[in-house]
Amino acid sequence: MSVVSSVCCYCGTGCGVLIETDAGKMTGVRGDPMHPANHGKLCTKGTTLHLTAQAGGRALVPELRVSRDEARQRVSWDAALDHAAERFAAIIREHGPDAVGIYISGQLLTEDYYVFNKLAKGLIGTNNVDTNSRLCMSSAVAGYKATLGADAPPGCYDDIDHAGTIFIAGSNTAYAHPILFRRIEEARKRNPDLKLIVVDPRRTDTAQEADLHLSILPGTDVALFHSMLNVMLWEELISRDYIFAHTEGWEKLRETVREYTPEKVATICGVAAADIVQAARWFAQGPTLSLYCQGLNQSSCGVDKNAALINLHLATGQIGKPGAAPLSLTGQPNAMGGREVGGMANLLSAHRDLVNPEHRAEVAQLWGVDSVPEKPGKTAVEMFEAVRRGEIKALWIACTNPAQSMPNQAMIHEALRAAEFVVVQEAFADTETVQFADLLLPASTWGETDGTMTNSERRISRVHAAVPPPGEARADWAIATEFARRLLPEQGVRLFPYESAEDVFNEHRATTRGRDLDITGLSYALLDAGPQQWPFPAGAHLGKPRLYEDGVFPTESGRARFYDAPYRPVAEPIDARYPLHLNTGRLRDQWHGMSRTGLVARLYSHVEEPLLSMNSQDMERRQLHDGDLVRVKSRRGSLVIKVQASAELRGGQGFIPMHWGGRFMAGLGVNALTLDAFDPVSRQPELKHAAVQVEKA
Ligand code: SF4
Repeated sequence: MSVVSSVCCYCGTGCGVLIETDAGKMTGVRGDPMHPANHGKLCTKGTTLHLTAQAGGRALVPELRVSRDEARQRVSWDAALDHAAERFAAIIREHGPDAVGIYISGQLLTEDYYVFNKLAKGLIGTNNVDTNSRLCMSSAVAGYKATLGADAPPGCYDDIDHAGTIFIAGSNTAYAHPILFRRIEEARKRNPDLKLIVVDPRRTDTAQEADLHLSILPGTDVALFHSMLNVMLWEELISRDYIFAHTEGWEKLRETVREYTPEKVATICGVAAADIVQAARWFAQGPTLSLYCQGLNQSSCGVDKNAALINLHLATGQIGKPGAAPLSLTGQPNAMGGREVGGMANLLSAHRDLVNPEHRAEVAQLWGVDSVPEKPGKTAVEMFEAVRRGEIKALWIACTNPAQSMPNQAMIHEALRAAEFVVVQEAFADTETVQFADLLLPASTWGETDGTMTNSERRISRVHAAVPPPGEARADWAIATEFARRLLPEQGVRLFPYESAEDVFNEHRATTRGRDLDITGLSYALLDAGPQQWPFPAGAHLGKPRLYEDGVFPTESGRARFYDAPYRPVAEPIDARYPLHLNTGRLRDQWHGMSRTGLVARLYSHVEEPLLSMNSQDMERRQLHDGDLVRVKSRRGSLVIKVQASAELRGGQGFIPMHWGGRFMAGLGVNALTLDAFDPVSRQPELKHAAVQVEKA
């Protein structure tokens, strides 16, 4: 038996794992006791990783169909990649580089992300490369940049042990980041004075543990945060010294939040004014660590929500010291790594911005190309809308399942049908998106591939292959590299010389020199000895657990910026026809579209099937009983699902897990109902709220 170290491929906690193998098969997984993210612990999902890797259902060989009337046929890798290169080249020749798009994933390794980003922006000449991280973290990114000047979570997991107050907003941490929640529970046992405040419309397992649960009405977070700042002002709980020395924009925000009295906001948020006052006092007392996730991000005002929470940290000086930081929890295992290499439509390598001409010139020089295109690329929802309209004609999808995970599924399916050529690069053979593939390219997956990932606390870990990929599956970066060399042979061979994931990492590393995430001091050899947090410049011996300890921020003035935005309600308010707020989210034991966790029987023991949870009084009013089939209908579609009463939900609200798509239930799954309205800055869609009606089916 041999043991190989790696990282769990589910949530952004980034737990270290040890994969046990025997005769080329994975035989077990245990937590890595040396990994600082989890110290040897794993949650239910993590402990079954090896089972998901060998449960079958894998894409094993390239498959191609030349006509939509035919089934795909097995082809060789050479034939598959030549065909893809010919189709892409023909479309680019006739319609220009913006007629193609690449849609990738926060589950790709950093090296995969890097190659895809360079393929689009450096070789093809389009910024149409976006990712499912757009559905996950883009509001957190924009929130950090608007206030602190850089996309850099300033805290670390150790802050849990130093905090006096932990403020969780829009996160069911107990389910979505279980090992971090265990750490919070342990910290509370050691320190009974540690206060836990949870902001969530639902009384989740996380909220049930709280000293104070603010069960706000959906989408009202900004009003709550402004009101907490109002209380801090009124009660002199702000840190005038910190505001004066390290921030700008305070006066304008101070005027705005004067309107947000607890009494007025109590009505907006549906919570008691006294609870808002209590939350403000505990927050200001600190040291306060805020942990937040999709409840803030998946919103049509997600950037406002993120920034309004960071305002509280700046106003009280709760940043840059042990136990005090706004720390966004990354939904996916490597959404951070993707951001680091600029793998989104509006970003460039090493946290550079596409809109910045100097950044474009720097990246062009680093890559050895004439220029990087200036025209903004299409973000996730925009990309599929452009495909539906026929503007984007060829789409390359890697390691993600948009035909299940994107909002407004009717539009997404229409787009995939309208595309002239769809390439799906995927480890699993039966996802909803694979059904649309003209060309299916089998990819290796967790346990079979080499590279790096970055977790929520900026910690880069090595991911190692423990077993060879099955069939003819190949690493994602290698597939993209081979395609690049065939698409434009001369440039492709020059720009994509990689023979290993390490070659890609070394090039990425060079692009970070002098940037906020400088990792020029890191190498695979060093990371093999243990994960490290960035920044880690050449000559460093350790990464940086906390940023901004000196109160200097990466903005033009060196000061953090208060963000002044009024509260805006949800994009689709409830009304007489659609009177129920629908929320979506994760279960404890399932992951995203279930292509992996859905293969393991024991992961259904927590929740067996998709259910609509509702308040019992709402069910009585509709004469519904547990187990009844109901039709849930929004303006975009409907689905039939069993209903169950839940004490977690207030009246007027419903909850459906995000995991079950059209493979598992009639129709298009839960995202038949959700809304593709998005935040105007981050372009992240409002997956967390839709107005629906419910009736007996
Ligand atoms: Fe994996 Fe997250 Fe569970 Fe850790 S907490 S084992 S990273 S799913």
